[in-house]
Amino acid sequence: MNYIQVDIEIEAEEIEPVTGLLLTLGITDTVVEDPKDLERLLNKEVEYEWDYIAPEVLERKDKKPKITFYLEDGAENEKIAYETAGKIKAFFPLSSVNVTVQNDDQWKDKWKEFFKPTKVAENIWVKPTWETYTPKEGELVIEIDPGMAFGTGTHETTSLCIKLMEKYLKPEDKLLDVGCGSGILAIGGALLGAKEILGVDIDPEAVKVSGENIILNKCQDKVNIKQGNLVDGIDFEADVIVANLMADLVIVLSEHVAKHLKPGGIYISSGILTEKEALVSAAIESCGFEIIEIREDDMWCAIAAKLPS
Ligand code: SAH
Repeated sequence: MNYIQVDIEIEAEEIEPVTGLLLTLGITDTVVEDPKDLERLLNKEVEYEWDYIAPEVLERKDKKPKITFYLEDGAENEKIAYETAGKIKAFFPLSSVNVTVQNDDQWKDKWKEFFKPTKVAENIWVKPTWETYTPKEGELVIEIDPGMAFGTGTHETTSLCIKLMEKYLKPEDKLLDVGCGSGILAIGGALLGAKEILGVDIDPEAVKVSGENIILNKCQDKVNIKQGNLVDGIDFEADVIVANLMADLVIVLSEHVAKHLKPGGIYISSGILTEKEALVSAAIESCGFEIIEIREDDMWCAIAAKLPS
């Protein structure tokens, strides 16, 4: 589907008057990006907690403030877009106004260009369904179409989990994957030889996508997926639990995972910013675990912990 996008670059002090002018012209839904807000966020001047800021957002840090609005495609709306652009230029001569027609479908598939076969651990590759990769001897390949779910394997938080699973998961183990997203870790576990795997996600879309990826990787005889919140209502005793969530959720989950692990079981948690490593480690230790390894990649870390045997 096509839509019209109007981008207006202005000075910070013009944000209010320009939004006001747009209102009088009947444009009520606008997106305002003020790099100063981002700066305040990065400098932790606001209370809002963040774990991750997309690189494309950070790129806007040194740019001018921008107001964007969207209209459905069509001759009438195109006229409105150009007339509005003209009025803004007349009142704010130093602004830059750009009218473009965007294609929603193209945008939806754009990310596919960046998802290539990727080596995610010593002997494990992840490959999107639409690419080919011929594994060398001893290599395992997880095939994924993430759809709208998280988990291509290219994100550090995921590959850190796969590396730790490659090290600590033993053939014939039972694996519980909390926050399974695309199903990538559950499938990785199956390829590494786990005999029974349960994946859980709160998002129904992730449950659907995981189901599709499990069939794609032909491991439906070993892997089950359930919709649910963390380990609520889960009746499964695992040798290894993997959870790529985020620091605060990992802390909440830590209190409950021990009940679902066998003695000597391993708890791998990820999605933790390095600055929260100490906080999360302490929470995990306070639940009776011994931290056995912490791996870092860029700003992220993953923690492997063990229950006493
Ligand atoms: N395991 C995948 C996806 C991680 S993204 C990977 O490593 O790439 C985190 C996933 O956790 C998302 O799919 C999200 O829907 C899920 N999630 C978030 N909160 C949850 C909760 N409270 N209970 C279960 N799943 C949750």
